[in-house]
Amino acid sequence: MPDKYDVVVIGAGPAGYVAAIRAAQLGLSTACVEQWLDAKGKVRLGGTCLNVGCIPSKALLDSSYKFAEARDHLAVHGITVKDPGIDVPAMLERKDKIVDQLTGGIAGLFKHNGVTAISGTGKVLSGARVEVTDKDGKVQVIGAGNIIIAAGSVPVNIPPAPVDNKYIIDSTGALELTEVPRRLGVIGAGVIGLELGSVWGRLGSEVVMLEALDDFLPMMDAQVAKEAARIYKQQGLDIRLGTRVTGAEVKDGAVVVTYSSAGGEKVETFDRLIVAVGRKPRSQELFASDSGLTLDERGYIFVNDYCETEAPHVFAVGDVVRGPMLAHKGSEEGIMVAERIAGKKAQMNYDCIPSVIYTHPEVAAVGRTEQDLKADGVPYKAGVFPFAASGRALASNDAQGLVKILAHAENDRILGCHIVGPSAADLVQQVVIAMEFGSSAEDLALTVFGHPTLSEAVHEAALAVDGHAIHIANKKKRS
Ligand code: FAD
Ligand code: AMP
Repeated sequence: MPDKYDVVVIGAGPAGYVAAIRAAQLGLSTACVEQWLDAKGKVRLGGTCLNVGCIPSKALLDSSYKFAEARDHLAVHGITVKDPGIDVPAMLERKDKIVDQLTGGIAGLFKHNGVTAISGTGKVLSGARVEVTDKDGKVQVIGAGNIIIAAGSVPVNIPPAPVDNKYIIDSTGALELTEVPRRLGVIGAGVIGLELGSVWGRLGSEVVMLEALDDFLPMMDAQVAKEAARIYKQQGLDIRLGTRVTGAEVKDGAVVVTYSSAGGEKVETFDRLIVAVGRKPRSQELFASDSGLTLDERGYIFVNDYCETEAPHVFAVGDVVRGPMLAHKGSEEGIMVAERIAGKKAQMNYDCIPSVIYTHPEVAAVGRTEQDLKADGVPYKAGVFPFAASGRALASNDAQGLVKILAHAENDRILGCHIVGPSAADLVQQVVIAMEFGSSAEDLALTVFGHPTLSEAVHEAALAVDGHAIHIANKKKRS
């Protein structure tokens, strides 16, 4: 192994492994240091996303949705399914196989592109050097022309609910439950809490979500959040807002949770409790005090818009820096940084990052919300189209929700899109592309959409921006 590389990446999650692959594609000698080990003590690539995040959660969401479909939604098609059962260990095994396949795939991509994977814990030293400590405590120092830190994030723990990984579990534990809890408490009705609550709720748990804030999904467009809340309630998720958990104690094989809400102090007992109150950057013990790196007030590594830290030739990307904690945000930052190291003029459009909640229906968003635009005094127009008026959604018996497009009132430029509905994650991407190209709502409205597709709801919402929707009665008439 050489003792100096053009680029050394710390962390092989979606930010780090993508940065490493792109750097190698650009002809830079590249190593990626990763501390995660598999059961056999071998380096495990893919980070949170592939191992305990995006991919395993989606695998369980898909399995549990198929089960719920068979149990609840096939009769309307004239299909009879008698007493569908769920084999939880088999469901987990399927998920584990997908994770193994994908993490192994990254190893293959590293090999193909000539990225050297180094097993160990990396630390940035002054003078663009990386200290790597392997699992046996052996230390080596590698020289680096450039360093990309992609150390990711870890779940936030709160003192009132200490995770014991048996009864009180975090998001990782919630992907490993071997049986369906009868009563499941979830602290935090954010993205991860809603996805994991939905998995186990569909499989039969009585799910109670305890959320400290009075507002539901405050970062989402309020109209979409309200519609999503209505649908989740119909599905049986008991979401209690304004409810702050103050204690959780394991007693006789159950978790006794105390919380305060408008009704005063209350106590509830659950079979399992998931703590899903957010994630924090993994920025501790990552750099030497004389390395020139600093943290911001929330513990993120301080970077500018190009992900440059305050130390020359040291970059940081992904969850360990400011911005939404999303896999694709980190990956794009990784590509930008690799290209800039290679001398290209890359930059990142932070205004155009989609975010999704993978419940059913999905909730997806890009750009500004209506409440943001109002607060900032931006003149805007809104076009809304309900899936109840979409032929394709009705044909699929999946017609809850709506598409909303927001455009500037004067120049018609699309400012945001918010969807709750079937395939919202894929539909919103059409608007992400339109926004990336600086499209107006009229550009989308003048585009030909295939029929019958769910995408037509996006088209109709774009038409509705100027009161031209065809398949609903427009509220406002414009020429
Ligand atoms: P990570 O994926 O956390 O990877 C960092 C890597 O660095 C890890 O492998 C870690 O072991 C390694 N590392 C850390 N420190 C060191 C060190 N000193 N030396 C060597 N290695 C080190 N995002 C989405 O976009 N879509 C989703 O659907 C989605 N679902 C999620 C579901 C769950 C349950 C969770 C928990 C997260 C989900 N996320 C989702 C968030 C997503 O997983 C993260 O945003 C993403 O993984 C961040 O990528 P990253 O590369 O910055 O960090
Ligand atoms: P997210 O950051 O999207 O994962 O959401 C985490 C949610 O957990 C936030 O909405 C927080 O308000 C919520 N939360 C944090 N601490 C508590 C607590 N003690 N009780 C209930 N909810 C909490």
